[in-house]
Amino acid sequence: MVTVRSVFHSVIEFLYPPSCPLCENRVSTHGELCSDCWSVFNWITGARCAKCGYPFSSDVDLSLDTLCPTCAAGKCELDWIRSACVYDDVSKVAMLPFKHCGKTKYSLFMARAMIWAMRDINVDADVVMPVPLAYLRLCKRGYNQAMLLARPIANALGVKMDVNSIKRKYRQSMGHKNAMQRAQNIRGAFNVVRPDKICGKKILLVDDVMTSGATFSELRRVLLNAGARAVYGVTFCRVARAN
Ligand SMILES: [Zn+2]
Ligand SMILES: [Zn+2]
Repeated sequence: MVTVRSVFHSVIEFLYPPSCPLCENRVSTHGELCSDCWSVFNWITGARCAKCGYPFSSDVDLSLDTLCPTCAAGKCELDWIRSACVYDDVSKVAMLPFKHCGKTKYSLFMARAMIWAMRDINVDADVVMPVPLAYLRLCKRGYNQAMLLARPIANALGVKMDVNSIKRKYRQSMGHKNAMQRAQNIRGAFNVVRPDKICGKKILLVDDVMTSGATFSELRRVLLNAGARAVYGVTFCRVARAN
């Protein structure tokens, strides 16, 4: 049936046909990558740690519940973690402009890839929480990139997004710090301001990149202290670590 809405939609599609956010080639759906751009990313598709999703480098046939050395030692930062791709020269081309140069139109394909990254998990989160940004950084950047990713993920899971229960204090950039310095720098950076919203909840944290895992570890600590039942995490990409 032809409705005003469908006519309006067709006009918009005609005036603004969907294009790949990275290369502007025509695609079928707004926000989607073209197949050429999709194919260059190092998506985490092969064997990976059952708990933290870390990709195993070898092609050996591992069972689905194999753990990486970190998780086998009981040191996983969260109850589970998934990431869509590896942080490398390819993902940087999308990540850095998304985070620092206002390329917020990348959020849709990134969020879709993150939902896909959780395909082996029965996600039972009650709430989706973007990793908070300090107020000063939010003022400078104008947006919290984690929130742009969290919104479509919360919509896809059919759960609420919580952006108010935790506040983050301003700390120096962690860009060039090692894992120990990152952990020290982030310690005490998060305050639970609405413990009533945290208590008893299973929380899915969303971030653009997982580096050392220090941010996730510290958030988990404060969320569990506030009574959270479980804390999970999903990121667009993750830095390779030395296991
Ligand atoms: Zn493209
Ligand atoms: Zn692991």
